[in-house]
Amino acid sequence: MTLEFTDRVTRVEPSATLTISALATELENDGVDVVDLSVGEPDFPTPENVVEAGKTAMDAGHTGYTTPAGHLELREAIAEKLAADGLDHGPEEIIVTPGAKQSLYEIVNALVETGDEVVLLDPAWVSYEAMVRMAGGDLERVDLSPHEFRLEPALGDLAETVSDDTDLLVVNSPSNPTGAVYSEAALEGVRDLAVDHDITVVSDEIYKEITYGVDSTSLGTLEGMADRTITVNGFSKAYSMTGWRLGYFAGPEELIEQAGKLHSHSVSSATNFVQLAGIEALENTDDAVTEMVEAFEDRRDLVVDLLEGHGVDVAVPEGAFYMMLPVADDDQAWCEGAIQEAHVATVPGSAFGTPGYARISYAASEDRLRTGIERLAEFGFN
Ligand code: PMP
Ligand code: GLU
Repeated sequence: MTLEFTDRVTRVEPSATLTISALATELENDGVDVVDLSVGEPDFPTPENVVEAGKTAMDAGHTGYTTPAGHLELREAIAEKLAADGLDHGPEEIIVTPGAKQSLYEIVNALVETGDEVVLLDPAWVSYEAMVRMAGGDLERVDLSPHEFRLEPALGDLAETVSDDTDLLVVNSPSNPTGAVYSEAALEGVRDLAVDHDITVVSDEIYKEITYGVDSTSLGTLEGMADRTITVNGFSKAYSMTGWRLGYFAGPEELIEQAGKLHSHSVSSATNFVQLAGIEALENTDDAVTEMVEAFEDRRDLVVDLLEGHGVDVAVPEGAFYMMLPVADDDQAWCEGAIQEAHVATVPGSAFGTPGYARISYAASEDRLRTGIERLAEFGFN
């Protein structure tokens, strides 16, 4: 029997970040010593108090379904966190999902249909494109690479790209894969365009807590943006909780109502005891988060210095734990060579819409980072 697949699924590729990381694991299983700088995953354990909270919740029998949108207590804690960021959302305007990826999936599927125009700022995280294409949307892309990945100098290009026909714009600051933190002036420029053309904006703030000496403004705090911004965040990065699968989004109640249907008919809810661990993460982990962010900053400095020592200049990231390394024009072939010959796993820039670069995730120990950069230098950067 031949299965016939939908256009929806055959028109996209698997996640490049996860595919390369799986290849690295495969090589490791074959006994190869791979420095894996591919997947964006903090290498720290989940803070112990959060693990304990999860265990306690499980032991106490919190193992059934929860209300689809998530435990009220968690949504109240999220509302408080958002209020501290300057965003005003009650628990009824929040849905808790198994990972921020699921939040984005629900938002895109609630808002984008065949022929709708969605604008991305390139390089953009791999799953935005795939989700929009699965929903049948058309992509317009604005390239930030000529501007060292800063948004402000690209506002003119953005103005030329968006129009009254634009349905959705996705902004991700701090950015995966560049680590850029967009300035307030840049975000005000985005606001002006969104208001002028009546565009809804998804603000993916999953790296908001991971910045180095700068603050990352939440787009929804800018005047005129409160009712047109959907804010996405999650627990994977700031609290090193990738495998727990916990994220959320906040937005206008009518969106919550529509996206909530996708949510309740697909995942039902995020995992019960994981949600309860999430409350502990929001309320009692400030020190652990600060320690992790300091470690990421040291590693950023180390990698930037090591690369400079090899004559490679990079746009210095101010947040997240990624940077874009300029490599050969055929970045796919370069990354393939880097993993097969130098045994260093990176992700081709073209997966993010920007060929000629490779993304490095520096969420790895200083030792592994030194080894990785040394191997890449021997392999050659182009
Ligand atoms: N947004 C961005 C920009 C990301 O890098 C990730 C990483 N996985 C996500 C969303 C989704 O994260 P998660 O599903 O683990 O919460
Ligand atoms: N977001 C992370 C990354 O970019 C995790 C993998 C994924 O979800 O794509 O590597």
